[in-house]
Amino acid sequence: MSLIVVGSVALDTVETPADRRDEVLGGSASYFATVASMITPVRLVAVVGEDFSDEHLRFLRERDVDLAGLQRLSGRTFRWSGRYLDNMVDRETLDTQLNVFEKFSPQIPAAYRDSEYVFLANIDPCLQLEVLNQVDNPRLVALDTMNFWLTGESVSVLKKVLVHTDVIFLNDEEARMLSGKHSLVKAAAAVRLMGVKRVIIKRGDSGAMLFDDAGPFWVPAYPLEDVVDPTGAGDCFAGGFMAYLAFTGDLSDSNVRRAMVFGSVTASFAVEGFSVERFDSVHRGDLLLRCGEFGRLVRFEDVKL
Ligand code: AMP
Repeated sequence: MSLIVVGSVALDTVETPADRRDEVLGGSASYFATVASMITPVRLVAVVGEDFSDEHLRFLRERDVDLAGLQRLSGRTFRWSGRYLDNMVDRETLDTQLNVFEKFSPQIPAAYRDSEYVFLANIDPCLQLEVLNQVDNPRLVALDTMNFWLTGESVSVLKKVLVHTDVIFLNDEEARMLSGKHSLVKAAAAVRLMGVKRVIIKRGDSGAMLFDDAGPFWVPAYPLEDVVDPTGAGDCFAGGFMAYLAFTGDLSDSNVRRAMVFGSVTASFAVEGFSVERFDSVHRGDLLLRCGEFGRLVRFEDVKL
C-alpha cells in the first residue's frame, strides 16, 4: 500500500547533558521515512539545499525511501538546533535557519498522486492543503503540526485541512491550544468536532492516547533506562503508526490500536540514539520482540473482589 510523507529534511545540531551531535540528519520527514521504510516502501516529498550530503541521500535510498519527490534547490539546507535540559524531556530551540525550506512548495510527482496513506508532517497548513489538492483519493490522511501554526491566520487554514484529515497527532500543549480546553479528554472531543476522526495525543515518556468512536485507548512509552536523544520521537511514532496501517491495509479500530503499539515501539528505538542512527541496527525481529514486551507491560488478569 502506498505511503507518502511531506515534511522537513534538516541538518540538526543537538545537545544533551551528556553529549552533542553537529549537523546530523534530522527533520520530520527523515525520521518518519527512516522508520516507515522498515516495513513498507515510502515516498518522500521535501526540499534540501546544495550542501545536503550524498551520504544522507544514500542512507535514505538504501532503505527503500523513494526520493523522486525530494527537491534540491540552490542555497543551504534547513538547519535546526536544540538543547535538552537535565530531565531529557524539556528542550530549548537554540536556532532555526529555514534556508531553502522557506521556499518549499510541495510538488507531488505524477507517480505519487495515487498515494493511499498520506502523512502531512509539521509544515505550514497552506502547504498541507496544497498537498491534499495534489493526491487523488487517499484512504487515510494523517497530520502533525506545532504551536507556531495554532494562532492567527494559520489556525483557520489548519481547520480547513482538518476537515479532510482522518488522524491528527498533537502533544498536550498543542491539543489545548487548538481546542481551548484544558482537559485532554475535552480537548480531543473538541478537535474531533472539527472533522478529524481520530485524535492522538503524544505524551512523551508517559505514552500516547487515542480518542475515536471506539473510545479512549492508551499505549505506554517503553520504560527505557536511558534516553540518548528524544528529537524526532513524535515523527517516529507517526512513522511506525502509519507504516503499520499501510503495511496491513486494515483500518479497523482494533488494528489502529495495534498501530498505536507499533508507533510506540518505533519511537522507543528512536530515542536510544542521536538522529536516526539507532535504526542502523534495528531489524524487524527487534521490532517484533519489543511489541511482545509491550504486551507483557499492560496485560493483567481480571481484578477480583
Ligand atoms: P520533534 O522532536 O518531534 O519536535 O521533531 C524535531 C525535528 O523537527 C527536528 O529534526 C527538526 O529538524 C525538525 N523541525 C524543527 N523545527 C521545525 C519547523 N519549524 N518546521 C519543520 N521541521 C522542524
